[in-house]
Amino acid sequence: KKQHSGGNAYQHYSESLGSQISDTLALENALRRAIEEDEFELYYQPQYDMGTGRIVAVEALLRWPRPDTGEMVMPATIIPMCEESGLITPLGLWVLRRACRDYSRWQRQRIAPPRVAVNISARQFQAQDLVETIREILQAQQMRAAQLELELTESVLQTQSATEQMHALAGLGIQIAIDDFGIGYSSLSYLKHLPVSKLKIDRSFLRGIPEDEDNKAIVEAVISMARSLKLQVLAEGVENATQRRYLRARGCDQVQGYLYSRPLPLADIEALLQQSD
Ligand code: C2E
Ligand code: MG
Ligand code: MG
Ligand code: MG
Repeated sequence: KKQHSGGNAYQHYSESLGSQISDTLALENALRRAIEEDEFELYYQPQYDMGTGRIVAVEALLRWPRPDTGEMVMPATIIPMCEESGLITPLGLWVLRRACRDYSRWQRQRIAPPRVAVNISARQFQAQDLVETIREILQAQQMRAAQLELELTESVLQTQSATEQMHALAGLGIQIAIDDFGIGYSSLSYLKHLPVSKLKIDRSFLRGIPEDEDNKAIVEAVISMARSLKLQVLAEGVENATQRRYLRARGCDQVQGYLYSRPLPLADIEALLQQSD
């Protein structure tokens, strides 16, 4: 927004800054209350094997149907604010518990896909007791570790303690996927030292495929690198049949995107899992 250059410019600026701060505080309080009142929901989006067409996992995605405004608040609003305020710890725990609880429900219904995938943010991954917490949740839900996949972004992988934590999780049998792969800054050589099982190509690289030469080069490089490192590779944000054909021809293992299914609320993903057996 353009600043007025008149005598009241400062006043304008400080008013809008003041209202930004109070908006932030109001949202933070609303989020804190939403955790206490159990207002969050998980939606689930399926991931498909390109060869067999079967669902290999469903990814849990956070939603907040805000009762006071009726609006559906998306993770892009929720997660950064919770990371900053520390609320990510209770919220992240809620997500893990809920996703594993739902998965164990699907097992009892005999509709469970091979895995449920949960996003873990950088700050949440730093928590010292994460491994123990996850172990307890798996035990409580009678899940095998291999049925849980954690999606970590490249920004998580920078520190020595994160590396140790990843080895501890992988040691339990938990699958680790690198989310939004390709947009981080880190060199690729770190990958061979980490217990990673899957690379998820960020959906920004699917844009304009196959006409966009730069994106094409990146997607092909990631697929061939994944192959030589013996990692699974998934393309996210697949929206049309042209992208699907292209990915299949290049040997991409898995796909996820609106072409196959949007993220669905619990009842709808259960209906989908029921059909797709
Ligand atoms: P992500 O993990 O990369 O998840 C994929 C995002 O892309 C989701 O957005 C999904 O709805 C969207 N998407 C999937 N297919 C398509 C498609 O074909 N086209 C387009 N345009 N978009 C597609 P969503 O649900 O808004 O989540 C955004 C991000 O927020 C996630 O990106 C993830 O980084 C984060 N997030 C979501 N839930 C959680 C959570 O429980 N914990 C943490 N820490 N982060 C979360
Ligand atoms: Mg993800
Ligand atoms: Mg992703
Ligand atoms: Mg992404």
